[in-house]
Amino acid sequence: MLTTRPRGTSDILPGEVEKWQYLEQVIYRLCREYGYSEIRTPIFEHTELFERGVGETTDIVQKEMYTFLDRGGRSITLRPEGTAAVVRAYLENKLYAGLQPVKLYYTGPMFRYDRPQAGRYRQFTQFGVEVLGSHDPALDAEVITMAMDFYGRLGLKNLNLLINSVGCPRCRPVLREKLQDFFRARVDRLCSHCRGRLERNPLRILDCKEERCREAGKDAPTSLDYLCPDCEAHFQAVLKQLEKLGVAFTVNRSLVRGLDYYTNTAFEITVQGIGAQNSIGGGGRYNGLVKECGGPDIPGIGFALGLERVLLTMEQQGIVIPRPPKLDVFLAAADEAARDRALVLVQRLRQEGLAVDMDYLGRSLKSQMKYAGKLGVGLVVILGSDELERGVVTLRNMSAGSQREIPLDRLAGEVRQHGLKHVSGEGKYGN
Ligand code: AMP
Repeated sequence: MLTTRPRGTSDILPGEVEKWQYLEQVIYRLCREYGYSEIRTPIFEHTELFERGVGETTDIVQKEMYTFLDRGGRSITLRPEGTAAVVRAYLENKLYAGLQPVKLYYTGPMFRYDRPQAGRYRQFTQFGVEVLGSHDPALDAEVITMAMDFYGRLGLKNLNLLINSVGCPRCRPVLREKLQDFFRARVDRLCSHCRGRLERNPLRILDCKEERCREAGKDAPTSLDYLCPDCEAHFQAVLKQLEKLGVAFTVNRSLVRGLDYYTNTAFEITVQGIGAQNSIGGGGRYNGLVKECGGPDIPGIGFALGLERVLLTMEQQGIVIPRPPKLDVFLAAADEAARDRALVLVQRLRQEGLAVDMDYLGRSLKSQMKYAGKLGVGLVVILGSDELERGVVTLRNMSAGSQREIPLDRLAGEVRQHGLKHVSGEGKYGN
């Protein structure tokens, strides 16, 4: 146990972590360009928040939460998703009293107790956005476009954007009744959870992962058949904006999101080739959530994208991620006297903003050069005590195999110059 991590979690090691840093950079730029500010909420919250905000009849709340009592006897849950916490923070910090709409984004780990498989983990990472305070269908289109733009910037292809409207509390009672009639006639084909959902929240049955329930729900009535005029107008306005923006989509009448608070627009992005877990993101409107959480009647919309699945898809599609060089220069000491001065020199170069490292294992000069080669460093400074006496060092260009002496006081400038010439030759994170 001591050397085994819990199932469904992962260690992101050097070599892999740079891919995450790259995603984070793309996210940071994307969100800046769309006018979203970052929010960071706790990784755990009071359990009631998710029970209320995600919905008591959802798979997440019924089967997947990491819930425990803390030492004070409070029920705490590791966040299974980001929206409920963002809404809680919006209310607690009275962000509704400031400029509206409030456009927020987050990235971070989420926790769900589910059977791990390719693309499904117990700790996974979501990038999400939430906008609170506007009903405008243009915002639905912006949020959807932003998700597609993110994938596009990463170079992902062959994505399917599925979109639906799940209606609002005004049109839902009709659908609810139709669904109850439909499933009552098929109750023996449903799983035990769905039998319980039939009276409380029949819409949830359409989102059950059990094959038997999916089969039973195949020709079930859909929300699009029963939209009220306002919801219908909103849906058409969103589709029209997406068309104007050139975002391709497919209306999918049976799409329901796994969370209870969705109203109107629901969308999901899927991709082929990464296995059964083919959803790489989804989102929608949740006009009822802020009120449900005890706040004013304020609408919201957002998305959450699973970054592990995004990386899996990139790998599957052969997309290479640009890799900046790790070190600008390696400092190798040719003798003991030089070694004694190495750390001070390394430190001076670091103060100049350069990425520098040296040997800490007492290697010979030859093995230091080998080591630098293995690190993939393009430039090595060789320090010799004789040269240092003369105020010079040797600069070796590793790829050209050439070297020359330069004055010590020109070292930082020379390294920077070399870096500028070679950024275009940066490495790649391939497969
Ligand atoms: P959801 O919050 O369920 O709407 O999920 C949004 C996105 O998060 C999904 O489209 C997936 O990309 C990702 N996701 C959800 N659950 C998992 C999981 N257990 N492991 C990895 N990614 C997940």
